[in-house]
Amino acid sequence: MLIGAHVSTSGGLLKVLERAQETTSDAIQIFSQSPRMWRPTKYADEDFTAFREAARGTRLQAVMIHMIYLINPATDDPEMRRKSLESLSHALRVGDGIGAIGVVVHPGALKTDTRANAKRRAIALLNEALAESESCPIIYENTAGSPQLLGRDFDETAELIEKTATRAGPERLGLCIDSCHLHATGYDVTTVEGVAELADEIEAKIGLEQLRAIHLNDSRDARGSNRDRHAAIGKGEIGRRGFRAFLSELRFQGVPAVSETPGPGGKGPDKAEVQLMRRLRREGLKARGGG
Ligand SMILES: [Zn+2]
Ligand SMILES: [Zn+2]
Repeated sequence: MLIGAHVSTSGGLLKVLERAQETTSDAIQIFSQSPRMWRPTKYADEDFTAFREAARGTRLQAVMIHMIYLINPATDDPEMRRKSLESLSHALRVGDGIGAIGVVVHPGALKTDTRANAKRRAIALLNEALAESESCPIIYENTAGSPQLLGRDFDETAELIEKTATRAGPERLGLCIDSCHLHATGYDVTTVEGVAELADEIEAKIGLEQLRAIHLNDSRDARGSNRDRHAAIGKGEIGRRGFRAFLSELRFQGVPAVSETPGPGGKGPDKAEVQLMRRLRREGLKARGGG
């Protein structure tokens, strides 16, 4: 299992590779542009080439891009729609440039409109963004269960995947599961049995081939709280015991996993946290009687 951290892009793409090395990440996540600003970061083709060349020969095997939080694919506001589409298309093109495994997206918020209308608008925008880019996939992240958000359960995410895959093809769509959001929604991610049930549900409703990314975050809140507050791995309600079970689920082993915890000094996960996740996975596999 490729394990790593969300890292900052400040200083440029080559700095990203330094941070991947520092944190011993086999997989990383980055933002395609500054997460609280609309202005897209300009990259030249040479930046992408330099990144791919420098990454070759390092331990880094998978890069995922997280969409900025400002966008809302379900919006009914024309200006918001234009900006959301532009940012998402930009992220997908960056993904094409650096060879990312996908762009992780929160499919949208209803605001004051009906679920059906919001869903229809989101699907139209997502299809446009896919058409404006080459091959980088869109990966829908599971939410913490708020009824205000699209993708509130796996049935809805399955529907989004199906309706955006009609033209782009299923290889360009996927699912990202976040351990903290699953816990907030009410899933038991802390026992071998609970995690097996979760994997069964994903297999039945979406298909394991669509499971493309995992976010590893502990939770500051109780199971079923619908609250999305990340805690350091092992320091929250999921705990070390929980991550041993979650990380050792056999059906998750081929999926790149990154942590988005605050980290020491708020700078994101460090080397110690990445190595802790690796150790908990090994201990979990051992407890199951495997490698
Ligand atoms: Zn996440
Ligand atoms: Zn979260």
